[in-house]
Amino acid sequence: MFEVVIGLEVHTQLNTKTKIFCSCATSFGEEANTNVCPTCLALPGALPVLNKEAVKKAISFGTAVNATINRKSVFNRKNYFYPDLPKAYQISQFEVPIVENGELIIEVNGEKKRIGITRAHLEEDAGKNIHEDGRSLVDLNRAGTPLLEIVSEPDLRSSDEAVAYLKKLHSILRFLNISDANMQEGSFRCDANVSIRPKGDTKLYTRVEIKNLNSFRFIQKAIEYEVERQSIAWEDGKYDEEVYQETRLFDTVNLVTRSMRGKEDSAEYRYFPDPDLLPVEVSDEMYNEAIKIPELADEKVTRYQRELGIKEEDALNLVSSVEMARYFEALIDDKISPKLCVTWVLVELLGRLKNGVTIENSPVDVAKMSKLLKRIEDGTISAKAAKEVLDYVMENDGDIDVVIEKLGLKQVSDDGAIEAIIANVISVNADKVAEYKNGKDKLFGFFVGQVMKEGKGAFNPAKVNELLLKALA
Ligand code: ADP
Ligand code: MG
Ligand code: ZN
Repeated sequence: MFEVVIGLEVHTQLNTKTKIFCSCATSFGEEANTNVCPTCLALPGALPVLNKEAVKKAISFGTAVNATINRKSVFNRKNYFYPDLPKAYQISQFEVPIVENGELIIEVNGEKKRIGITRAHLEEDAGKNIHEDGRSLVDLNRAGTPLLEIVSEPDLRSSDEAVAYLKKLHSILRFLNISDANMQEGSFRCDANVSIRPKGDTKLYTRVEIKNLNSFRFIQKAIEYEVERQSIAWEDGKYDEEVYQETRLFDTVNLVTRSMRGKEDSAEYRYFPDPDLLPVEVSDEMYNEAIKIPELADEKVTRYQRELGIKEEDALNLVSSVEMARYFEALIDDKISPKLCVTWVLVELLGRLKNGVTIENSPVDVAKMSKLLKRIEDGTISAKAAKEVLDYVMENDGDIDVVIEKLGLKQVSDDGAIEAIIANVISVNADKVAEYKNGKDKLFGFFVGQVMKEGKGAFNPAKVNELLLKALA
């Protein structure tokens, strides 16, 4: 039997406003070659100037994964030739990355496991080659966008663990607000290094690196395919011939990996310190600021359970995106009861978000939801009526109070109207009232039911309870 060994390299774009070595904007989706300047175009004589925000974000990441932060790190030139790399070298970090020796705890099938993070280093992104109409074009808008490359130890033992690791990493980046980590837009990209070995063996066997993985599903499929390919080669006695260190591409149509090129050794990149950039020295001031990180998803899950009495499963759902957690916490800040918030966010709101609409662009924003829930809590409307209001506002927008009025959903809380019905119910049920007074407490529910029925469901139940108690006393 084989054991699977996986190590992941993740390139994530840091969400700084400007590029890492020049002041061009990092905005996505602009017209080609408009976010460029002499530095990111690599015109002769242009010099790089380090963006401190990128450094801070890297330090925040290191803090979140319990890593060592190197207060002095070094930028190197990584030399290779490709049309989307105008300088013919990438500025990256090599021997001394800014972040080293971190860890991340994943959970698969209820079991927790520590995955080592070897390093995380700063580097610049390349441009993009666009192949269309039989020609190739180069767009350098992305060239110089700050990247954090996060390299794991070969500690992952299955495609499930790999996906759990990536989701955890993704969550940390989002909650730290240091990256959009948008897989479709390429701001969170993963290469998977995969090898197999006989169970019990501790040495590392030949790894294959798979590129072009831009969804969690593809990562899972690519690893599964690759493990299968290597295992079959081993069993057929062709391991040495068919498994060698190389870079393979994942074919997303046929769900197979294909050889792309032999794998460069790092020696081939001729790394050397960039003479245009001094080593990065992190001042105390910058360091102290960067290590102040916001509450992450795991901590929120613990706090929601402890402080708000929320079930673990619900808490986990509430932190499945930073936007959802923010929405939920804004309702809590508005003093809505936690239980009501959980139901109305996770069940009522999420159930009504369709066609790719997410919570951050939900037609019912926090202010509207908060008002709606207050109207339940103050008895203006019943929970059932609130669902109608929500349906209406999701479709047509509108102020909550105006919609309640318009749909005629206001509960009757007017004492006089309710008392009149109560008096009537009491007089036609004189026998039951006598029994009740003789200790048959259970009849109270019957009276409530009668009054609510007469009120055609529009009476505020809390009010009915209160007035009935008084009338029967
Ligand atoms: P490179 O840039 O050459 O790919 P890195 O050091 O950046 O090298 O990344 C190597 C990655 O490969 C790490 O995530 C590491 O854990 C993983 N790795 C190394 N050896 C193996 C192996 N035998 N099987 C699986 N993964 C491996
Ligand atoms: Mg690699
Ligand atoms: Zn520029």
